[in-house]
Amino acid sequence: MLFRNVIGQSAVKQHLIEMVQQNTVAHAQLFLSQPGAGALPLALAFTQYLVCENRQPDDSCGVCPACIKAQKLIHPDIHYTYPIIAKKPSPHPSLSVDYIQQWRKVITEQPYINELDWLQAIDAENKQGNISAEEARSIIRTMNLHPFEAPYKVQIIWKAEALSKEGNILLKLLEEPPSNTVLILIAENQEEILPTILSRCQLLKINKIDDDAMAQALLRYGVPQSRTQHIAYISDGNFEEAQRLMHSETHEEVTLMTTWLDSALNFKPGLLYRWTEENGKMGRENLKSFLEYAVHLFREALMGKYVAGYQPRLAEDERQLAVRLQRMLTYGKLEKVLQLISRKHYEIERNVSPKMVLMDMSLKMNRIMRTKD
Ligand SMILES: [Zn+2]
Repeated sequence: MLFRNVIGQSAVKQHLIEMVQQNTVAHAQLFLSQPGAGALPLALAFTQYLVCENRQPDDSCGVCPACIKAQKLIHPDIHYTYPIIAKKPSPHPSLSVDYIQQWRKVITEQPYINELDWLQAIDAENKQGNISAEEARSIIRTMNLHPFEAPYKVQIIWKAEALSKEGNILLKLLEEPPSNTVLILIAENQEEILPTILSRCQLLKINKIDDDAMAQALLRYGVPQSRTQHIAYISDGNFEEAQRLMHSETHEEVTLMTTWLDSALNFKPGLLYRWTEENGKMGRENLKSFLEYAVHLFREALMGKYVAGYQPRLAEDERQLAVRLQRMLTYGKLEKVLQLISRKHYEIERNVSPKMVLMDMSLKMNRIMRTKD
C-alpha cells in the first residue's frame, strides 16, 4: 500500500518516512490507534516503504518488484499475524498462515476493516478470534530467519490485544531482536496489552482521521459531495464506520428522522405504526446506521443546548432538526432519549427484530416526552 492511499494522518506518515530515511527504525513498535483511524493501512505503507527498492522522498515507488509483492501481501520478508479461529479438523494447531489466502484477498480489497468483519470473512460465526501461544512461537521462528530479499524482516501483529497473556512468549524477541527485524504490533486498547510488552515497544499514537481528510477520501470513493460532510461528521474519524455509512441505503436519514419525530412526539399512533411497518424492513445494517445517525444528532443537540455558542457538526438541514429538538426537549430529556437510542442500537446488534426495536423506541420516546423531568 502506498502512503498516499492512506487517508489523512500526514504527521504520522511523515514520522514513519523519516524513521526509514534516517535509519532510526525501532525494532519493536506499537501502533496504538483510534478505531478506524487506519493503523493497518499505515503499517502496510510503512513496511512497503521499508522494502521498496527505489524509495521516493515521500512514498514507495509502487512499481519495483518489492513494491508489487508488498502490495499483493506476498513479499517473503513481510509476515502477518491476526486473530483466527481454530480450523477443524486439523492435525496441528491453527496459525495465521492457514488463513493467508483469505487475509490477502480481504486486506488487498479493503485494508480498513474491523475485527468483526475479518472474523466474518473467515466464517468464524460467533467465535472469538485468538492469537495462540503456538502462533507466538512461530513468530519467533520466522523472525530468526535471515531476510530473503529485503534489507528487513517485518512482522505485523494486527489486533495485538488477541495475544493476551501469550504475549509473554514474545518478550525475549522484543528484548533481543535479531538484527534487521521490525515488529509492528497494532492495537486499539492499551490496557489490553501486557505492561511487559508495552514497555518494550516504541509507542506510536494514531489519532482519528480529521473531518476534511475524511470528506476528501469519501469523494474519492464516489460519495456525492452533498453527503461527504454528513458522513464525515457521523463517522467521527473512523473510516470503517464511514464505509458502512456510505454503503448503507439510509440516504434519507433526515427525512426518516423528521417523520419519526412527527409520529413519536405528537403521538399519532396510525402514523407511528405505518412508520414502524415501513422502516422495520430496512435491514439490520441500515437500521444500525440510522440509529448511529440518531445518536449523533441528539448528542449534537445536547451539546448545543449545554454549551453556549457551540457549532454543531451537522449539515444545514440537520441543524434545523437539532434546533427543533433543543426547543422541544429539556436537557434531561435529550439525555434520556440518547440513552434510549444507544440501548436500541445494542439490541439491534444482539439480533432483536428491527420492527420490535423501532416500535419500542417510538413508544418509549413518547413516554419520555410526556413525563415530567
Ligand atoms: Zn518500490
